[in-house]
Amino acid sequence: MAAETEIAEEEAQVQPDQPVEETVEEATEEAVEEEPKEEPRSVLPGDLIGTSEEFIPRNGAYLEGGNIYAAASGIVNINKKERSISVTPITNTPPHLQVGDIVVGQVTDVKDSVALVEIAGIKGKGEREIVHVEQAAIHVSNVKDAYVKELYYEFAPFDIVKAKVLDLRNMRLSTVNKELGVMKAYCGNCRAVLKIDNSKLKCPKCERTETRKLSSDYGTGII
Ligand SMILES: [Zn+2]
Repeated sequence: MAAETEIAEEEAQVQPDQPVEETVEEATEEAVEEEPKEEPRSVLPGDLIGTSEEFIPRNGAYLEGGNIYAAASGIVNINKKERSISVTPITNTPPHLQVGDIVVGQVTDVKDSVALVEIAGIKGKGEREIVHVEQAAIHVSNVKDAYVKELYYEFAPFDIVKAKVLDLRNMRLSTVNKELGVMKAYCGNCRAVLKIDNSKLKCPKCERTETRKLSSDYGTGII
């Protein structure tokens, strides 16, 4: 009960113009229509964030006795359409990365000798959580078992890549292995997701073809 009172007070502070919700049932009906952008609400594990009557708990939230609690420290997200609630973790202590770990991340930049990758998750350690560990790099010598003429033929910004951690001090990654490499790539022209077409990538919209160091799991979503 104490937790519920605290939350109600918090909400009242965040949005002084809005009346405090009297009852849960009444409020949810109206809230679907008009609702200004709410201030992000941060919670700690175990904080009460809703009830099963209001929401379906998703990632980072769990149901217990009709109440929904945060399973992680993070920011509460409410999907009005889906009537679901989730918690996006925020943490300064990312899961421990180890040499040999398989990570998934997004290419942020491609230079002459390195592709920069923002790591989003570690296989087997909550790959669904976006942890934003730090910037890592795939050096041109660690792309594949063959000569790389131009790194721009292997990676492009926004690509989702699966790679192995080689070195923690310099955060070097490797994609030398058939299941490692680009998992998802976007057309450089129209941003559509590229489809595999005879070991090349083709844009289903504008027909542009591109090359990448592909993972054998390209397009499957398998980490
Ligand atoms: Zn295209």
